[in-house]
Amino acid sequence: MHAPSVVIVGAGFGGIAAAIELRAHGIRDVSILDAAPGLGGTWLHNTYPGAACDVPSHLYSFSFAQRTGWSRLCSPQPEILAYLQEVATRFGVADLVETGTRVTAADRPRADGPWTLTTEDGRTRTADVLIVATGQLNTPVVPSLPGVDSFAGHAFHSARWDHDHDLRGRRVAVIGTGASAVQFVPAIAPGTGHLTVFQRSGNWFLPRRNRRFPAWWRAAIRRVPGLQRLRRRFVTEYCESLTLMIRHPSTWGRIGRLYATVFMRMQLRDPEVRRRAWPDYTFGCKRILFSSHWLPALQRPNVSLETERISEIVPEGVRTADGRVHEADTIIWGTGFATTDFMFPMEITGPGGRSLRAEWADGAHAYLGMTVPGFPSLFVLYGPNTNTSGGSIVRYLEHQARYVREALQEAARRGSSGVEVRAEVERSYDEATQARFAGTAWLRCDSWYRDDSGRIVTNWPGYMRDYEARTARVEPADYVFHGSPQR
Ligand code: NAP
Repeated sequence: MHAPSVVIVGAGFGGIAAAIELRAHGIRDVSILDAAPGLGGTWLHNTYPGAACDVPSHLYSFSFAQRTGWSRLCSPQPEILAYLQEVATRFGVADLVETGTRVTAADRPRADGPWTLTTEDGRTRTADVLIVATGQLNTPVVPSLPGVDSFAGHAFHSARWDHDHDLRGRRVAVIGTGASAVQFVPAIAPGTGHLTVFQRSGNWFLPRRNRRFPAWWRAAIRRVPGLQRLRRRFVTEYCESLTLMIRHPSTWGRIGRLYATVFMRMQLRDPEVRRRAWPDYTFGCKRILFSSHWLPALQRPNVSLETERISEIVPEGVRTADGRVHEADTIIWGTGFATTDFMFPMEITGPGGRSLRAEWADGAHAYLGMTVPGFPSLFVLYGPNTNTSGGSIVRYLEHQARYVREALQEAARRGSSGVEVRAEVERSYDEATQARFAGTAWLRCDSWYRDDSGRIVTNWPGYMRDYEARTARVEPADYVFHGSPQR
């Protein structure tokens, strides 16, 4: 049995999960390349004040590396980053990471391999298998508003926070009101001179106070057998109930909406802010946000909520469509990521010069979010239709890592040098996946889950347990094993 050489691009949760899984099963020739100066992926880049995961940590962590010592239900970014670094070290994969190495292209001229990767410095390397674990949230986006470069003050994106820039006493404009802004605005608002939040869409909120766990609770988690497993189970079911609400907006979704409405009405004392902040779309269509601090922050005397459309950026600040100029010293872009671009601008070319970019021109698609016809021994982690609106992506990644390892073992067992999903299998899977969105809240508004054509390309349409069942084992009949005597 020939163990393949594997290159993983991306050293976040996905890349680390894959490396641990492969090494634990005898696939030793593994390297991980990452453009960043360290491992951690999104948790290395997103250091904005208040950064934390809104998925409880005992679910947003590996099943094989459970930790009882989390300080809060939803851990802050430094704790999550330290956890990932610790796990990578403990499982012996931290040293496999080559940082500061940006892959610009991957090319596989022949089906029976190998891949040739080109890095930014012009060097090349080869590997039998390419695992792309760059995720959906790695390229920050600043919208191309008129005059965006004319701003005379200082501007930065939330995912590239400038910690050297002192916000105290300044006039700050925050553009965007997604999951990131909802975390950093309450953290910075008290120190700013004035903060203007530019909102294009309101959000549905559910409570999240996220206080430190009391000592007795942490002690109980450490000492009472099964308690950690029980709370992971409880959170799993809670998350699945969010998906239930999103999948059934006219029934279960109404319960979620009622809960959010009561919570938001209690928090929004100012009628004008309430009118402006209220969402105008179906509960669950965009990401449901968890914060008990955002709506109170909007009602601070030094904060204003602006819902007029932005017409341009001017040297003094932000001009809205009604002609007003909102003066600012600092603009913070909380405008999210190029989610539907996946690994691009990296160019991936399969046999016969087939370009993945061209293949996905009408929307990204991949079998189980991982494999694409025409691209042998390419695996994508956190790929198309594997994002979750109510669950932990770390769980999905763990299942993907195991699935990839099994596929590689199956290929090795057959003496194959390239494993490729059958086009008809991928096509009917994709049709079934898209069909599962019918009737759900996801189709009832525009969001970062959809590409320009309106197709949902990022999200999984079901529950975590469905995805786990779907990826539980590799079905060899779904694949072509190139160069193998046993196809
Ligand atoms: P986001 O959810 O995509 O939010 C971007 C915000 O910018 C939205 O409010 C959007 O408005 C607004 N926007 C975009 N272009 C604009 C324009 N031209 N003019 C005005 N407003 C504009 O980005 P994010 O907040 O960085 O979060 C991205 C994802 O990262 C989240 O959905 C989540 O999956 C993940 N995340 C997770 C956590 C966590 O705790 N687990 C924390 C942070 C982020 P519209 O809504 O109208 O498009």
